Amino acid sequence: MATDEIVDAKRFSKSESSPRIGRVPTPTGYPGLGDINSYLIFPADDSDELILIDTGINSEEAWESLKQGLATVNYQVEDITKILLTHGHNDHCGQAKHIRDTANCEVWAHENLHLTIDRFNPTPEQRELEKYFYARWGVEQEAMERAFARRFKNVNSFEPVEIDRFLKDGELVEIPGFNLRTIHTPGHCPDEVVYWQEQEKIFFSGDHLLPNITPVTLAQIPTSKEAVRPASLIQYQNSLSKVEPYDIRVTYPSHGGPILDHVSLINSYRASTDRRLLKINNILEKGGVMNPMEIGKVLFPRAWKEQLVPVMSEILGHCDILREGGHVAEEISNGIVQYQYISTPTHLIPAPERVAEAFSSH
Ligand SMILES: [Zn+2]
Repeated sequence: MATDEIVDAKRFSKSESSPRIGRVPTPTGYPGLGDINSYLIFPADDSDELILIDTGINSEEAWESLKQGLATVNYQVEDITKILLTHGHNDHCGQAKHIRDTANCEVWAHENLHLTIDRFNPTPEQRELEKYFYARWGVEQEAMERAFARRFKNVNSFEPVEIDRFLKDGELVEIPGFNLRTIHTPGHCPDEVVYWQEQEKIFFSGDHLLPNITPVTLAQIPTSKEAVRPASLIQYQNSLSKVEPYDIRVTYPSHGGPILDHVSLINSYRASTDRRLLKINNILEKGGVMNPMEIGKVLFPRAWKEQLVPVMSEILGHCDILREGGHVAEEISNGIVQYQYISTPTHLIPAPERVAEAFSSH
């Protein structure tokens, strides 16, 4: 599905994809995540427009790596004329301001960018709202404080930047000889986009498609206590279906090497979602009425303490699917969300049991 190519700064060849494209990896500083790939679109012969897709975090190491990577392909930061963001996570936009100030370039991003960026530096009201919802999901105060403290430790890896243009789904980014189509793919976060180069059949997938790991679909905090929480995992599944039909030759992800078969990758994501749906369904069948945190502690007995946000995102996301399918009931009791088992989705029941069940119902 993906190549084993070592990820270094380079200009791609015509046989790999297109000599109009280059890649510059920079360190994220996150253990287990490694580098983030920024991609370059080199100027056409009669143009000086140098595009950078995503920037890396705001750190001295990332800045040095960016400069060195650009030098490898005979450019410097000052040559960049435009930054396109795939989404507002700090490894994608952290040093956008530093680059914008240095190169006097523009920064373009999806119009939902603020929904992701606001979480780095929430207002007191947004912080209260977040606490309200975590409490509603059954998370104890102490676990909540720990998770928030961890997030704010990384606050310096992002510097707020002015956005010159907000993009909408379907909008064309005109680049001489290399136009990119913006495709909104919410799920991993509400502002995620992928960029599609139709003539060369190339995708820049951000964190929407990643080799080796299934992207986390982060739980979104509603904009008010009364608002409905967006179902991130359902959005993500819809976004996978949106990109699946594209006749893609090469997909360039933000982490790891190029993806050569995006359809197999998407199917592997679906299989892993199904496995997790079955596990959660089984936990609820045995456990009776449970809140999201209680399910999280059973499914991730160790990880929930250190990885509260992704754990809660996984539980809520999968419970949304089970609830939408009528397989679990959701109600609020004493201000806390409670799930209860109703049935197991037929396609999740292992084949021999399905046969036995069909016989027993006659
Ligand atoms: Zn991301």
